[in-house]
Amino acid sequence: MRIDIITLLPELLQSPLNCSIVKRAQDKKLVEIFVHDLRDYSSDKRHRRVDDYPFGGGAGMVMQIEPIFKLVEQLKSERTYDEIIYTSPDGERFSQQTANKLSLSENLIILCGHYKGVDQRVRDYLITKEYSIGDYVLTGGEMPAAIMTDAIVRLLPGAIGDEQSALSDSFQDNLLAPPEYTRPAEFNGWRVPDVLLSGHEAKIEEWRLEQALERTKLLRPDLLD
Ligand code: SAM
Repeated sequence: MRIDIITLLPELLQSPLNCSIVKRAQDKKLVEIFVHDLRDYSSDKRHRRVDDYPFGGGAGMVMQIEPIFKLVEQLKSERTYDEIIYTSPDGERFSQQTANKLSLSENLIILCGHYKGVDQRVRDYLITKEYSIGDYVLTGGEMPAAIMTDAIVRLLPGAIGDEQSALSDSFQDNLLAPPEYTRPAEFNGWRVPDVLLSGHEAKIEEWRLEQALERTKLLRPDLLD
């Protein structure tokens, strides 16, 4: 898989893309992630500007279409993209199901917005999907892009040592994950449930499913609808 991220602030993506599972997945060649500095595609060679005032007036700046078009067209001429994603608070809510679906892609572009967002023509003519990570407004699309990339990359076969682990996480099968415990079996008088120490695999599985259902009923009953 290949993911191209377009941003005005490449440095914001450095740490999330170069640690833990996302880094290991790149080291193992499961995914290639390219971060493109949109300012490199500005026609304003002196100031590297990629934004301008909004037509009709109003506060804030708008990202211009030309540099985005130039870069997206260049990428598209080199390979076919499954989706060209724009991170946006008014987009479809990004979910585990979205991550599952996108993890089957070969090539993705993620465009991070900034300022008041992008010229609407970018959204109308270049973008194929728009995703929001929640009902709040962030300064830019870099953190949403990093979140989406992490959620997608950890699903790639081989990215996580124990593949079952990603499949048993919350939201797979619309259930929250059951509680987990590790050693010591007793701390401060607080004991780990006996069933987990029993070594009886079928009973442990049954207990985990019950716990997942209980937790989902309690915390996220909407998932069971
Ligand atoms: N004017 C926009 C609005 O009211 O919807 C908000 C612009 S926001 C300050 C700048 C950029 O951050 C957006 O264009 C988007 O790319 C990104 N962004 C902010 N919040 C986001 C969210 N909840 N999900 C995804 N992207 C977000």
